[in-house]
Amino acid sequence: MASIQLFLHDFGLWIAIVIGLVVGSFLNVVIYRLPKIVSAQSIGENSDSNLTLTPWGTLLSPGSTAPCCQKPIAWFDNIPLFSWLILRGKCRDCGQAIAPRYVLVELLTALSFVWVYFYFGLSWEALFYAIFLSVLICLFFIDLETYYLPDYLTLSLLWLALLGSASGLLNFAPSDAILGASFGYFVPWATNFIYWLWRRRDGFGGGDFKLMAALGAWLGMSAVLPILAIASVLALLSMGLWLLIKKERFDLNRMLPFGPFLILAATTLFFDSQVFNFLIER
Ligand SMILES: [Zn+2]
Repeated sequence: MASIQLFLHDFGLWIAIVIGLVVGSFLNVVIYRLPKIVSAQSIGENSDSNLTLTPWGTLLSPGSTAPCCQKPIAWFDNIPLFSWLILRGKCRDCGQAIAPRYVLVELLTALSFVWVYFYFGLSWEALFYAIFLSVLICLFFIDLETYYLPDYLTLSLLWLALLGSASGLLNFAPSDAILGASFGYFVPWATNFIYWLWRRRDGFGGGDFKLMAALGAWLGMSAVLPILAIASVLALLSMGLWLLIKKERFDLNRMLPFGPFLILAATTLFFDSQVFNFLIER
């Protein structure tokens, strides 16, 4: 009981939960808007239009609109978690259900921030890991919904690891980050190349190589093969489950986003090793 009371009286914990929910709410905007911005940019490059879209400007304005009916969302309907509970998961204007992803992202972000606070306290390292986990949450849902891993996010993640280790704020050497990134990019690239020679089509997307490079930089070279192995098993299991539930033949030519499985595998390994280190340090 004493430990629960101590837990609830920890002011930093509440700050971590509140900041996590607010950041999670912003991540939802990124997940919804970034793929649209990127595809608008690629159309802009191919046409003569003078449309210039900067991701930061477009992510922050105009204010939030409901994805269902495009009506502007009032501030009191835009409070993380609570508005969803008050509205009972339905849009105030058109009554359509709000995708459970919105609440899920807010809760996952809050959980990540609580975890980061417990392991790193208030430190630069905490800030780096909070950004690391936030970007992974974005990538997970963007790939799941659009089959696409934006360079803005994967490459930022890679640079963040290099910057963090070079400045000494993260607990690994820059050489380890560079080795991990190179190996992380090379293994799926080589696998894809062999697959291409065999079937004359790509098995992986280019976004997967960059995501693996970033994960290799953050988690080290030794994590690359386990991440790929665990992700492949998870992907196969999900395909099997899909077959059982949907009772339809799985079309191998159908695209399966691999990014979410890579991220699941990487975070499992990451949390596992952190808990392990934490236990031996005691
Ligand atoms: Zn609506």
